[in-house]
Amino acid sequence: MAQYSHSKLSTFEQCKLKYKFKYIDKITPDFKSTIEAHLGSSVHNTFEWMYHEILKGRVPELDEVIQYYSKEWQDNYTEEHKIVKEYLKPEDYFNKGVKFLIDYYVTHQPFEDGTLEMEKQVNLKLHPEKPHTIIGYIDRLVFDKERNRYEIHDYKTANFLPKQEKFDQDRQLALYAIAIRELFGKDKKILLIWHYLNHNQKIISKRTDEEYDKLRQDIINLIDEIESTKEFPPNPSQLCDWCEYKNSCPVWNKKLG
Ligand code: SF4
Repeated sequence: MAQYSHSKLSTFEQCKLKYKFKYIDKITPDFKSTIEAHLGSSVHNTFEWMYHEILKGRVPELDEVIQYYSKEWQDNYTEEHKIVKEYLKPEDYFNKGVKFLIDYYVTHQPFEDGTLEMEKQVNLKLHPEKPHTIIGYIDRLVFDKERNRYEIHDYKTANFLPKQEKFDQDRQLALYAIAIRELFGKDKKILLIWHYLNHNQKIISKRTDEEYDKLRQDIINLIDEIESTKEFPPNPSQLCDWCEYKNSCPVWNKKLG
């Protein structure tokens, strides 16, 4: 279990039982995916295609972007996608994606901010004497030549926009930044940038060298804790409605308790 990801670490922090179901016992989930995840992947795949076209020297028209998104949505949609909010229909989620893309396109065209790569895979070795690595994918990596700095961009399709303090504490993009500093030099300046598409807002955060060092140590400590954990109790919360192991969970299925 030497390889970790931000989502694997977050699952452990959110609910140890879910972590056990997913990463240790590897039991079959109750459903393939949620409609929110389907919306997120359809929008991400559309951005990936759009920026690849831009890197090839052609900015797709907005109509083409929406067509690509529609096809992504249809090709990968099944009725197995769980809709927790029963008052919403699949079309409502599809239409949200259209709005996200239109707002983003209009705000950011002609997309000349120095994109280097989409879905860039990063592998971070946390400590020379430990086998653990963190794997992750940067939605979009940018190099701003004028300011001589890298930018790590992340796209969010969630409704809720957290406060700035949450971004200043965020682990995921800061971990990717550590990996980028190892690739391109520790002296490189890096901005962490989230695009909250539902609000058409860009949120920016930075870290100091000391914060990067502390984060690295915190993750090593967390992995040590995970690997020495023997008890995996459930931790019921509002998130249980989106949990793909609810049918196997004794909190919700009393016959299992
Ligand atoms: S349903 Fe809730 S308590 Fe049960 S495993 Fe999933 S997240 Fe944990």
